[in-house]
Amino acid sequence: MDELIQFPRGGTILTQSSFSELSFISHGVTTRKGGCSGGEYSQFNQGLNTGDDASLVNANRKILAEGLGIRLHKMVYAQQVHGTHVACIDQDFFSAVAEGQPLVSAQTDALITRIPGIALNILTADCIPVFIVDTRCKAIGLAHAGWRGTYEGIAGKTLHAMKKCFGTAPSDCLAWIGTGICESCYEVSEELSMDFTTRFKPLGFCSRDHHLDLMNLNFLQLQDAGMAPDAIEISGYCSYHHPELFYSYRRSAGMSGRMASFLILK
Ligand SMILES: [Zn+2]
Repeated sequence: MDELIQFPRGGTILTQSSFSELSFISHGVTTRKGGCSGGEYSQFNQGLNTGDDASLVNANRKILAEGLGIRLHKMVYAQQVHGTHVACIDQDFFSAVAEGQPLVSAQTDALITRIPGIALNILTADCIPVFIVDTRCKAIGLAHAGWRGTYEGIAGKTLHAMKKCFGTAPSDCLAWIGTGICESCYEVSEELSMDFTTRFKPLGFCSRDHHLDLMNLNFLQLQDAGMAPDAIEISGYCSYHHPELFYSYRRSAGMSGRMASFLILK
């Protein structure tokens, strides 16, 4: 079940109750509430390069980091190019980044790690954030699944990368498909809708009326990768449907802030 939580010093996040029971992680999706940004970007925009004032975005990121009890230089981001590269955030990653530079993994749409105390971040405004926690190996993964990433199966690829790097077994994992655009709000071309149906028919997926249910398709892909259906939760919120809580790229015709989905091993 989704739950809204407000930090004492501002900033409201959405969490998932079964993830909240895991004492070794922190997780959530930021909402629009409680930050410094104004206008279309009001209030808690976490995305740089969105047209918003960078100093306000950095102030919002600071509010988030403080709310989570971690330092700003422990916040790791993916460049997000709608691809399927999964980056393992290890000590080599930190060694390769120059002192004082932002921690951004280039050409990456999913992050995995087993290092405690760092926040993996994915930025979205309609795309689907997919959270994966390996409860046995104590490893985490976070994927950015827009239509392109979903079409290329990024959720399954993230789980596969965790298997390869950490020995993760899908049966030991819990997943949360966080807030993104819902099926009724996500109309696409007939051609794209047909492509999805053809490609994912074997998983039991079918697009209806030129609409795509990306949340459900990510759910099906995680099952196809070996997870049990009852180990996967789907957010009940839609980014387009709830303007007071979430940014939506489609609703704002591109003039939109971003929510940060974050996952931390304590
Ligand atoms: Zn919707």
